[in-house]
Amino acid sequence: MDKNYNSTWTGLDRFTPDCDTEEKIYCRACGSKMDIQRRVHDYRSWSDFTARIKSYFDVFTCPNSGKPWHDQVIALKIEISKTASTKIERIIQEEIDYIKQ
Ligand SMILES: [Zn+2]
Repeated sequence: MDKNYNSTWTGLDRFTPDCDTEEKIYCRACGSKMDIQRRVHDYRSWSDFTARIKSYFDVFTCPNSGKPWHDQVIALKIEISKTASTKIERIIQEEIDYIKQ
């Protein structure tokens, strides 16, 4: 998971698959069907950016990206990815379910 310049996280609410390899993707944070931009010509990753290598790929983003509750769900998902405790994971997941109601 990487933070992008526009308050999205690759691997959660932003995906950049090869062109036309994915029909639809659902947001890992909120479950919404993601918006698609096909055949974007840009830097695909931070390492591509530093190497100044542009390529073609599709960009999937969540329509809810940037909303405060969505940012909070993402922050909690990142907390879950860090913890080794299944108890803490369960508590955080309860909070995510509450926020999404
Ligand atoms: Zn979302």
